[in-house]
Amino acid sequence: MAFAALHPEAGRIDATLPDLGCGLAWDAVHRVRPRIALRCPECGHGVHAKVSPRKLRYFAHDPGRPADCVWLNESLEHHLLKLELATVIRSVGWHAQLEVRAPDGSWRADVLASSLDGTRRVAWEAQLSPITDEEIRDRTARYQADSIGVCWVGVADRVSWMGIVPSIRVRDPYGDRPWTVVDGVAGFLYDDGVWSVVDNLNLTTFMRWVLHEQTITHHVLPRYRRVWLGTERRLARRRMIWTTQRSIGEEIRHDAMRQRQETWKRRQEERERQAEQRRKEEAEARRQEEERQLKITQEAERARAEERRRQWIIEVEKNRQQRKAEERRQQEIAHTAEQKRLQQEQHEQQDAYRWWDDLSSAQNEQFRAAVTELLWEKEAIRVEFDSQGPTSGNAYGIAIYLRHRLYGVLRPSPASLHRLPHAVPVFVRNTREARLIIDTGKIDPDRVIHFDLPDNEQLSLI
Ligand SMILES: [Zn+2]
Repeated sequence: MAFAALHPEAGRIDATLPDLGCGLAWDAVHRVRPRIALRCPECGHGVHAKVSPRKLRYFAHDPGRPADCVWLNESLEHHLLKLELATVIRSVGWHAQLEVRAPDGSWRADVLASSLDGTRRVAWEAQLSPITDEEIRDRTARYQADSIGVCWVGVADRVSWMGIVPSIRVRDPYGDRPWTVVDGVAGFLYDDGVWSVVDNLNLTTFMRWVLHEQTITHHVLPRYRRVWLGTERRLARRRMIWTTQRSIGEEIRHDAMRQRQETWKRRQEERERQAEQRRKEEAEARRQEEERQLKITQEAERARAEERRRQWIIEVEKNRQQRKAEERRQQEIAHTAEQKRLQQEQHEQQDAYRWWDDLSSAQNEQFRAAVTELLWEKEAIRVEFDSQGPTSGNAYGIAIYLRHRLYGVLRPSPASLHRLPHAVPVFVRNTREARLIIDTGKIDPDRVIHFDLPDNEQLSLI
């Protein structure tokens, strides 16, 4: 069904106008014989005037209609809405054309509102069927390209494209209630900092505001795109709304306030950040100073330790030198003592040789025999003389054994008495020898036993 048709003489006629927009009566096209060759403005197919049971005037396609004509499948609801839009536009004193196409076909308006002076046009689109966001944007852009304002009007509870393009959602009349706008128009609540959708706005009032530019479309600032939908108690995302210049001003004022707050907050954060930075730098400086002091302390401690070590090495070296010197000195002393001892021993040996050289073997025998005899008398046992002869251990005298035990020493050398075994008697040949030994002062005279043997060999032979 459609409200517009092409009349073979009058041109475009409009079923919603009493004179069909061209000074013709409805009866001049409705049920007229012969039929007037009316055609569909969209597809060119034949149409005929009809009246619905609710007394609604319209044009219907003749049988054999093309399936793709846009007016074909429109519902009664759609038509009623379009009719309402046209009626309101006319009540405001504007021209309203239904189902009108752009000369170049770039747009096709359900209802095109034109100001009397022809300077302004607003297309009203009753969009009852689903449409993609992309298509609705595209169609909006085509109107804008021809400097035509547009408002998309939806009826369903949820309309996918609300707020994407200039749009409203309406509720159809019920009882005394007229057509009302329930979505798409919003006022800015400064105190809450939010856009709030106005519900229950009379469609006539809204359209009058739009045509008088008291209500305009507005691209919501990004900060405020979550719009409060009071009737549904929820926030909805909207990029574009219908509103007043005053609300736009409030939004700008609020945004400026928020920007000031944010600037203040950013500055505050910057101040805090700088303060934090300063604190960090101070802490870092303190840490570096402490590290520096610690290094100095450690360096000093290391230097002291190094000095102690150096001193210790010097001390050790000094001790070593002293020890070596002492060792050398001791070695020299020992060497000297050894030399002296060897000399002493040599002297003693030489003295001992001389001491025994004075004695002939006969005298020696005589002497041994005298000792043997004396001890035989005294101990009734025969003594034995050390077969080694004179030994240094017995002061270069000859050891006398009695039952394998040292009994005494025979004729020790006077120069070597200090080597004499302790407390054993000493036997010498005569008083002269006894005197030689005793005069050394190194032996108790009581230990010295002497015989009376002659010093001279000749004497002994006598
Ligand atoms: Zn058609």
